Amino acid sequence: MSTFNAPKGTYDLLPPDSATFLAVREAIARPLRNSGYGYIETPGFENVELFARGVGESTDIVTKEMYAFETKGGDRLALRPEGTASVLRAALEANLHKAGNLPVKLWYSGSYYRYERPQKGRYRHFSQVGAEAIGAEDPALDAELIILADQAYRSLGLRDFRILLNSLGDKECRPVYRAALQDFLRGLDLDEETLRRAEINPLRVLDDKRPDVQKQLTDAPILRDYLCDACKAYHEEVRELIGAAGVVFEDDARLVRGLDYYTRTTFEFVHDGLGAQSAVGGGGRYDGLSEMIGGPALPSVGWALGVDRTVLALRAEGVELPLPTVTSVYAVPLGEEARRVLFAKVTELRKLGIATDFAYGGKGLKGAMKNANRSGARYAIVAGERDLAEGVVQLKDMESGDQAPVGLNEIVAELETRLG
Ligand code: ATP
Ligand code: MG
Repeated sequence: MSTFNAPKGTYDLLPPDSATFLAVREAIARPLRNSGYGYIETPGFENVELFARGVGESTDIVTKEMYAFETKGGDRLALRPEGTASVLRAALEANLHKAGNLPVKLWYSGSYYRYERPQKGRYRHFSQVGAEAIGAEDPALDAELIILADQAYRSLGLRDFRILLNSLGDKECRPVYRAALQDFLRGLDLDEETLRRAEINPLRVLDDKRPDVQKQLTDAPILRDYLCDACKAYHEEVRELIGAAGVVFEDDARLVRGLDYYTRTTFEFVHDGLGAQSAVGGGGRYDGLSEMIGGPALPSVGWALGVDRTVLALRAEGVELPLPTVTSVYAVPLGEEARRVLFAKVTELRKLGIATDFAYGGKGLKGAMKNANRSGARYAIVAGERDLAEGVVQLKDMESGDQAPVGLNEIVAELETRLG
């Protein structure tokens, strides 16, 4: 690999495709902003211990995928592999939960890092938009988040996604199930590492994607049969609220998530056009996480949606987002004097919010008009010495090809009117 290539498992976002990424981030954020979620930004790295405790010592993320390192000063840090632990850490550190206004609702957008085997839809640097509602146990809050994610995907024009829903129980009923599952797993033909995982976190074995493991899990005990009455009632309420909102979902009794801290409501958004990397987003309730990282009991719920895979899902469905025009007006000066005069007009137009660009580098008319075309501009303004002597510029409609002189003092107002 050359020094001048992007590192393995990463890629650059370049125009014009990068505009789609921005639009996806924006589309996911919009319903959140509209629902009382405030924007939060945390550092790209944290003390490694936060993730070890907050994500779980036995998870793939912590054992295999984390970029952990020691600084020159001896601090043990890790690039953030996910957002929830950081957001909760920041909320606790700033005492947001003590301001007397629970739940604390936050949304974020940023880069995450996991040392994974790169594949389509699986990268070492990827992008998520996420939401966390901290400090309230209320089925309506779980339902709100699922409904908002559904809204976000629909607003993008996605159709072929599905919402999978499950409950993981709580500290009352999950241990009973855990023990039953462990008994079952001990009787299977599993490799050593998986058997070890079965001892530390048996639920995660259900998430094993290898077919030979999945085949043996057909008769595994199911969590639903072990839920306590409180968890059952809570889950039923979440299901009813989502259903009443017209959001279609599927009960998936086998759905567990990669992170240790989930309790009760668990969900995943999958897209059927993505092949193996089908999860476009996921989340759930994490009532125990705050205490795990040294905070008070703060039942919470959240999700993270993957921006990269959402863009792939749009492509798979052939959805073209209506992207805003990059450039409306393109100015082409012919000669020194025209350069100064048109450059001033460009600045004026930009101040009015009209997207304007300029032919730099002293190009001739032909080359400059080619650039004007490529820019997608609706109008070009062209001026040479003779135009300026007459006090006009040539205004060219790039769609119809019509061209007419407009007074130098009128051109800004004229364009403003035409572009409405
Ligand atoms: P998977 O099962 O595909 O590994 P995950 O359970 O690890 O996903 P989460 O930790 O729940 O994923 O992250 C939420 C979302 O972030 C995923 O649904 C996915 O869209 C995205 N995501 C996670 N890891 C990657 C990655 N390595 N590359 C691109 N997107 C990712
Ligand atoms: Mg993963």
